[in-house]
Amino acid sequence: MSVGVVRETASGERRVALVPKVVASLVGKKVPVIVEEGAGLGALIPDSEYVDAGATIGDPYSADVVLRVSPPSDAEIGKLRSGQKLIGFLAPRNADNKIGALRDAGVEAYAVEAIPRISRAQVMDALSSQANVSGYKSVIVAADLSTRFFPMLTTAAGTVKPATALILGVGVAGLQALATAKRLGARTTGYDVRPEVAEQVRSVGAQWLDLGIDAAGEGGYARELTEDERAQQQQALEDAIKGFDVVITTALVPGRPAPRLVTAAAVEGMKPGSVIVDLAGETGGNCELTEPGQTVVKHDVTITSPLNLPATMPEHASELYAKNLFALIDLMLDESGALAPDFEDEVIAAACVTRDKEVSA
Ligand code: NAD
Repeated sequence: MSVGVVRETASGERRVALVPKVVASLVGKKVPVIVEEGAGLGALIPDSEYVDAGATIGDPYSADVVLRVSPPSDAEIGKLRSGQKLIGFLAPRNADNKIGALRDAGVEAYAVEAIPRISRAQVMDALSSQANVSGYKSVIVAADLSTRFFPMLTTAAGTVKPATALILGVGVAGLQALATAKRLGARTTGYDVRPEVAEQVRSVGAQWLDLGIDAAGEGGYARELTEDERAQQQQALEDAIKGFDVVITTALVPGRPAPRLVTAAAVEGMKPGSVIVDLAGETGGNCELTEPGQTVVKHDVTITSPLNLPATMPEHASELYAKNLFALIDLMLDESGALAPDFEDEVIAAACVTRDKEVSA
């Protein structure tokens, strides 16, 4: 059994599926690793470091298991052979997903997005590891765009009040954003439609904004709001948002367009110089005035919606992702070190999205 690491080709993608430290762990388990030439360059890892860790530089598609970060292009799917295993972000819920093409090619594909959010699978949870990166970086982006300090400053020239930051949607990214904004000295507030989140918000020193809507859905995710709930939420947020210097939005509902939380009127009500960082741009954005992938100024408020923030921190994002993949591969090995995924295992069964020319449920 061998694994291959491809050089990513998606625009702006600087991450790599394995870092040398994790290559060494696989090689230590007698798993040969073949790294495509230049695969680590986006993350500033030269081929020589992979070789030092025990990998060979060559054709990753000759391996039994091909590892990648971003979904493959059609040309890359063309390089996979029937029965070969592929592990990566495969965006199975996106309208333009490649699941049908992978099925037709006979590939046994594992989508890291489909790994269940259960305690045992936390170590392989790539959605979480990368959401942590996004949450952290969203605050750094906000601080950069802000015309105001985050911390309270007491100087000879006077005292500056700390910035106020509101995080809308407190899953993994939102919680990390709250913690990071707090560390930078902001006064933080969190809001979510899952009431259970209140305790987590308070645990990172933030206030909980309670709008009285409970929309906890299945599997720890939120459900979509009804029309009435949505109107109630938008109105309440319009009032609340006015008081904040920074708003970071991360709200998502699996398989649905991003919920619209911040209306144009809410933006208009904010103080000039305030900043909105919308992390939901890939599914349309949480703010009505968001232009995904762009930074715009509306009503003197800067609204930015960066896409793929983890790719802007390729070193640590790749390291965490590689550890996630190592844990998943380890789960697929039997006692003799042979590749033998157990489809009775709920993690393997859920992660596998195509197999034997069929799409798994
Ligand atoms: P996500 O990215 O799907 O959504 C981000 C947040 O947006 C969620 O907290 C959601 O409740 C919120 N949201 C959705 N609609 C909203 C609306 N209209 N208004 C306000 N907020 C809204 O979430 P995620 O980060 O992937 O986390 C999903 C769940 O999985 C969480 O419960 C998290 O704690 C859990 N989780 C569990 C594990 C584990 O136990 N292994 C690991 C990671 C995450």
